[in-house]
Amino acid sequence: MQKNILMMGAGLSCAVIGRTLAESGHSVTVIDSREHVGGNCFTERDERTGVMLHVYGPHIFHTDDKEVWDYVNKFAEFRPYKNQVKTTSGGEVYSLPINLHTINQLFKSSMRPQEAIEFISNKSDKSIVDPQSFEEQALRFVGPELYEAFLKGYTLKQWGRDPKDLPASILKRLPVRFNYDDNYFFHKFQGMPSNGYTEMIEGILNHPNISIKLGVRGDRALATQFDHTFYSGPLDGWFDYSIGRLAYRTLDFEKFYFDGDYQGCAVMNYGDADYPYTRTSEHKHFAPWEEHEASVLYNEKSRECQPDDIPYYPIRQQAERELLLQYVKIAKGERGITFVGRLGTYRYLDMDVTIREALDCAREWLLADECGGELPIFSVNPI
Ligand SMILES: Cc1cc2nc3c(=O)[nH]c(=O)nc-3n(C[C@H](O)[C@H](O)[C@H](O)COP(=O)(O)OP(=O)(O)OC[C@H]3O[C@@H](n4cnc5c(N)ncnc54)[C@H](O)[C@@H]3O)c2cc1C
Repeated sequence: MQKNILMMGAGLSCAVIGRTLAESGHSVTVIDSREHVGGNCFTERDERTGVMLHVYGPHIFHTDDKEVWDYVNKFAEFRPYKNQVKTTSGGEVYSLPINLHTINQLFKSSMRPQEAIEFISNKSDKSIVDPQSFEEQALRFVGPELYEAFLKGYTLKQWGRDPKDLPASILKRLPVRFNYDDNYFFHKFQGMPSNGYTEMIEGILNHPNISIKLGVRGDRALATQFDHTFYSGPLDGWFDYSIGRLAYRTLDFEKFYFDGDYQGCAVMNYGDADYPYTRTSEHKHFAPWEEHEASVLYNEKSRECQPDDIPYYPIRQQAERELLLQYVKIAKGERGITFVGRLGTYRYLDMDVTIREALDCAREWLLADECGGELPIFSVNPI
């Protein structure tokens, strides 16, 4: 039977779920409190320069998931794009992620891979057997020089916490490559939609069973007018933050213009703790197939998210995990709603994971609806 479905949010999560349900014959209404679709993946052309802007921060598509790659290619033309990031540290520019070039630059050497492996192994602090913090983990992996130059200051600025107070789990693997590969991602499929992400998400939402209303904030009262709601807003927000706020980092972007090529690459990180920004993005370099003389850039800073800020990165430390657990318990008592996406499940999600989870969630919901089974409360377990 056809149902009336409300999607609260016009980001990737709700767009993909809404499209899947619309293709199955359901009537889908998509709303967003913002005046545009696309959520945080929103891109638009800068009026002054014509450069495609990644308004909420740089987005590079990368995945090993063939179904997801085929899915996005149905709605956008993707161009090959390799994410090559540079960083400054101590007044010099280095290659990231830390690779053989970075090591040779920092130690003013010309080591080959095997020599570098032995060299870094000798640097690593073997007295740390069971690392408890980010700092201990980094020292155990790479030793003091690489840690100080590339990990310490950046991490401090990004998380607003001393790496001594951050969990070791943030640095899961050895953050070093012993070759000259400076492609930031290992994934098989990588690219950039030639005309931005907004066009891709508009394509996903372009279906006769989908209607879109922008500039509309959804709430419980609105949800009661529909058979089911998918909510991609903040989990704690649905409950009016009744037992507290889940902590996030937010980002401040300072936009500026330059005539010509400002930094010669798309992303320049800043490793030094006393330099206020974490990175600068020069957006014309995200579309190397386009030609622009003028340039537009964002300096980026990270800070603690306040109630009126856009929540970007969930913090998910011990205190937040405990609060999350309580919200998940309360949410499981709700009916007629599914919490989805990065805010609904309080997790950092890359776009390919967002799409994968959205496709799986829509299919699970359709199956449960057809068989009269229990409809999912969460797209995935947030714990
Ligand atoms: C700085 C940054 C850089 C990133 N870079 C990459 C990258 O390079 N590669 C990559 O794969 N991924 C990247 N991501 C991840 C990517 O942004 C997410 O995967 C994606 O945005 C998740 O989509 P979503 O729909 O779950 O959430 P969102 O994009 O946040 O969309 C949620 C939408 O819901 C709306 N909403 C919330 N509450 C309500 C309400 N009550 N009523 C109506 N509307 C509401 C919001 O306005 C928003 O538009 C990055 C994320 C960040 C923060």
